Amino acid sequence: MNFAVKVYPRTIWGERYRGNFDQLTDEIAAAGIQNLIVPAFQGARIFFAQQFDQEPNPWSLLPLRERCAQKQLGFALEFPIFNDRDTFDRMPELRPQSPDGAAYSEDFWYRPICPSRLEYMQHRLHLIEGAIANLNPALALINFMWWPFLPSTERWDEMGSQVPSHCFCPHCRQAFFERTGLVNPLQDIEAWFDFRAGRMNEVLADIEELSNQSKARPSLLLELPPMATPHFDERLLRLTGVHLAATRKLVGALSPQLFYNEYGQSPAWPLAVLDELAAYDFSLFPQIDFPDLTAFSEDHLQELLFLLQAISGCQIGAAALFHWENLVHLPQLLNIIEQFSSEAS
Ligand SMILES: [Zn+2]
Repeated sequence: MNFAVKVYPRTIWGERYRGNFDQLTDEIAAAGIQNLIVPAFQGARIFFAQQFDQEPNPWSLLPLRERCAQKQLGFALEFPIFNDRDTFDRMPELRPQSPDGAAYSEDFWYRPICPSRLEYMQHRLHLIEGAIANLNPALALINFMWWPFLPSTERWDEMGSQVPSHCFCPHCRQAFFERTGLVNPLQDIEAWFDFRAGRMNEVLADIEELSNQSKARPSLLLELPPMATPHFDERLLRLTGVHLAATRKLVGALSPQLFYNEYGQSPAWPLAVLDELAAYDFSLFPQIDFPDLTAFSEDHLQELLFLLQAISGCQIGAAALFHWENLVHLPQLLNIIEQFSSEAS
């Protein structure tokens, strides 16, 4: 099996590595992992050189990208779209709104942005273009490409049973009116769902076009948020605006976030998701999470073994591990990864 691991800037430049790219890539390679996935930007922080930088960017991924090439490690970028802590904090007018006009409040780590703000999206596209040109990724993962949505463990099975509460801001209402002639989205819920899916597809089409015009022409993978089963696709459409059949024309691969540890699910849930997604003609690149170090037990090892065996049994040859910082302190888990990795080669 082929493995990728998500590596966050706070890990790369944090306490363990302090920007020591050699140590980082050596440790990842030693675990039998062949690819790194790194965000190209996070909020206002940009991890590549830009045209008008006054001085060299100290947080550049370029040396890491070069180190990966030397060591035959794959290097993929992640582009977070509608989740941006700094914009959320600094420009409250871009926060999604509920039907009664209340702004989205801070939600754990999640800071969504209204998907109808064109100037925000233009800036995102500009960043994506710069990141591809500067870092030449073979693969790019598009994350948070959805209407405001954070899964809730408490209301897991109810996902999608109600109309999502965000975003009903004046910009979204205006865009909906231009498309349908309706003033109030709640007048025609199906038209509202159509509108939301249409918007997500426009954004994805813009990213795909830009990526196609780049020299690197990275393959695009669309990340999907954790979502209950059955009827994963229907819940996904209603809650996030991601319409799988329409998406197929723009991206060839999906990367569902199957974070069963974080959302208190058994390994049966990731398998049910993959089973439903198999009905669509996508390559699948599932993402698996790991328990906190403090909560780690022997049961987690057994679950991971079971899950990896089942995934490879579904003819899925690659998986992404979320994320390196959670994994690096768990040698037993790293052994399992290494074992699965060498089995394939
Ligand atoms: Zn809005």
